[in-house]
Amino acid sequence: MHAIDSIKNNAHTSFSFEVLPPLKGTGIDGLFRSIDELCEFDPKYINITTHRSEYVYQESPEGVFHKVSLRRRPGTVAVAAAIKNRYDITVVPHILCSGFTREETEYVLLDLQFLGITDLLLLRGDKAKHENVFTPTLNGYSHAIELQAQVNRFNEGFFCDGTPIKEPGRPFSYGVACYPEKHDESPNIEMDLYWLKEKVKAGAQYAVTQLFYDNEKYFRFVERARAEGINIPIIPGIKPLKTARQLSIIPKTFKVDIPQALATEVLKCKTEEQVRQLGVEWCIAQCRELIARGVPSLHFYTVAATDSVKQVAKAIY
Ligand code: FAD
Repeated sequence: MHAIDSIKNNAHTSFSFEVLPPLKGTGIDGLFRSIDELCEFDPKYINITTHRSEYVYQESPEGVFHKVSLRRRPGTVAVAAAIKNRYDITVVPHILCSGFTREETEYVLLDLQFLGITDLLLLRGDKAKHENVFTPTLNGYSHAIELQAQVNRFNEGFFCDGTPIKEPGRPFSYGVACYPEKHDESPNIEMDLYWLKEKVKAGAQYAVTQLFYDNEKYFRFVERARAEGINIPIIPGIKPLKTARQLSIIPKTFKVDIPQALATEVLKCKTEEQVRQLGVEWCIAQCRELIARGVPSLHFYTVAATDSVKQVAKAIY
């Protein structure tokens, strides 16, 4: 079943989550253990993130610095296949513009079809760490919508050089990203919604939001999207706050606000365990309100927070 089918056909708010491929060289068993922890809540699909290569400088014994390309979390396709194989569940690998050429993307699409994986989340991807602004890869793309066009052409039976695919496989179904608090590069929310609408017209079947801690921002965003004629499911992306340091890290990394009521309570905590527990309680309250307002699905960001997500899921499912 495609992710969109479980989003649309579930009588109750469904559960899904995102995982990261393991750090290079750390094996997959830890990831399986995290997924095992969450299986009892009947996840409908699992997303697997993609991380571009970064350039780093390594010092040789002679004291010379060499620029090397390093991918800290390789293996999205293989990890997706391993999860599908082990848990017999829909997997949604992320496909990026950032760091990939169109040919590389095409090979990924072919690999995924061979593996029977036909769900994708199509994204521009984060900029490289050494860049101030996003720079498209040579023979790559600047925006997710261009990636959508390539996948659409592939679905119609054409490679990116225009040649026909001899035996086209099962078409891909895909979602895209959206931002209740606006994407940080967008001049305003209107422009961001304009591009989201274009992504919907180009074939996005659902959108998953950036994480947020203030439900009102999500509700307002959905209201504005509906007013613009964007009628696809908008799936809330949820991450329980876990540490006091995240009060500054989360706004910086994800460009979202932490509500003052939550920040004030975090500052009163005496231990990290108290902060973790507070994050879980805040998240449970958020999820209960979202469910009461009829969201079709909740999508959890589990990185370094599987224990908290499990506690939240236990309370709400
Ligand atoms: P786009 O849709 O290209 O939008 C980027 C900006 O450009 C927005 O401001 C938009 O308004 C504007 N825009 C869109 N189209 C156009 C156009 N044609 N012309 C001009 N402006 C345009 N990053 C990773 O590296 N790996 C991941 O696995 C990953 N997973 C994610 C999952 C989710 C659910 C979310 C919300 C984000 C994820 N990200 C991931 C981060 C994401 O890649 C970044 O936020 C990125 O900066 C934007 O991606 P996008 O797909 O929204 O880009």
